[in-house]
Amino acid sequence: MQVYKFGGASIKDADAIKNVVSIITQHPSGNLLVVISAMGKTTNALELVAKAFYQNKNEEAIALFTQIKNDHNAIALQLLVTALATTQLRLNDLYTEVEWLLHDKPVRTYNYYYDQIVSIGELLSSTLVSAYCSEMGINNTWHDIRDSLRTNNTFRAADVDIAFTTEKVKALQQSVFCNNRVVLTQGFIGCTQENETTTLGREGSDYTAALLSQLLGANSLTIWKDVAGVLNADPKIITNAQLIPQLNYAEIIEMAYYGAQVIHPKTIKPLHNAAIPMYVKCFNNPKLTGTLINNLPSINLPSIIVHQYNQVLITIRTADYSFINGAATTSINHLLIQCNILPTLTQLGALAMSICVHDDEEKINQFTSLLAALFEVSITRNLLLITIRHHNKVNINVLINTKNCLLQQITPTTYQGLLAQ
Ligand code: ASP
Ligand code: MG
Repeated sequence: MQVYKFGGASIKDADAIKNVVSIITQHPSGNLLVVISAMGKTTNALELVAKAFYQNKNEEAIALFTQIKNDHNAIALQLLVTALATTQLRLNDLYTEVEWLLHDKPVRTYNYYYDQIVSIGELLSSTLVSAYCSEMGINNTWHDIRDSLRTNNTFRAADVDIAFTTEKVKALQQSVFCNNRVVLTQGFIGCTQENETTTLGREGSDYTAALLSQLLGANSLTIWKDVAGVLNADPKIITNAQLIPQLNYAEIIEMAYYGAQVIHPKTIKPLHNAAIPMYVKCFNNPKLTGTLINNLPSINLPSIIVHQYNQVLITIRTADYSFINGAATTSINHLLIQCNILPTLTQLGALAMSICVHDDEEKINQFTSLLAALFEVSITRNLLLITIRHHNKVNINVLINTKNCLLQQITPTTYQGLLAQ
């Protein structure tokens, strides 16, 4: 059993879907689970629908949703002949799930409606890919992952109920995979005990694919991307970025944690726990070997450079000039957990604690207003955090303009510099 994950860019239009299906066709014998995210920028477009709806702009929400329907219908028309009529019926059923809601007035939380609306992207895209597989004669089945992946009801950031999901996925293995070589399902979404749809956080499809790989005991997971594999820097920023052929699980976790856009940071734990290798490969050129991620030590790694924009430095001081001691840092940590904030850099001094976080306005407002009851707080926005793993003097000198540098931290493996832009 192998697992493939295809992201939005790989299925952005009819030609892209044809390419994905040709990659599925080339998969050697044995069962294949294909995890799919929403087409192109559909998730962003659906977020606008959810926002308009929640602001009581029903007509605007319906107009935005109609555009998304038209895009998916157009792709169905371009791809399908034999499977067209049945697919149109299935797409219409899915559209209706959202449309009945868009005519209502919101009475529950924004996050609840967000999940009910945004989750449709994955259901639509996987329906189209499955239909085109059938059109091409590939024996496959479409599985609604909400029947197997149970979560709590933290809408927009749901946690998976591993025990329940494990049982369900095992049953799936015995039923669905017996009759079908290829199973297509959705990333990013799940379902609560009350049958309400949830999402796992933006870019969560990688995590779904890794979790299902673990629960199915897959031989490997392949994440298909628009790059040749994992590079040591963002090629849009560093033009001579180079491919890394093999990486250790720990190394890729560090990269993802500091903001490299390679994979969702939660992806590696399930793979590591079950010792499942992961390949990052290029869907535009499947013959390239890509990057292999496994538990072997990585040798001769180049410096790995991660640029993370939109950082905010929050400086917290005691109001009465006392030390920022254990009790103070404990209460700050509790507030970080309460606001679901993961700092990208922290520094503790005698009178102040500095915390660098990603600029999520809602979370930061909540955090700083809670802090303000206990401490003096100041905020600096619009910063760039550069993290260099396996740094050397040369790349620190080239990348860091010390005049603009607000904070630096250095260990034998990791350098971090926070810069004003
Ligand atoms: N479609 C979702 C997103 O864009 C999930 C994913 O792509 O992994 O965030
Ligand atoms: Mg994506």
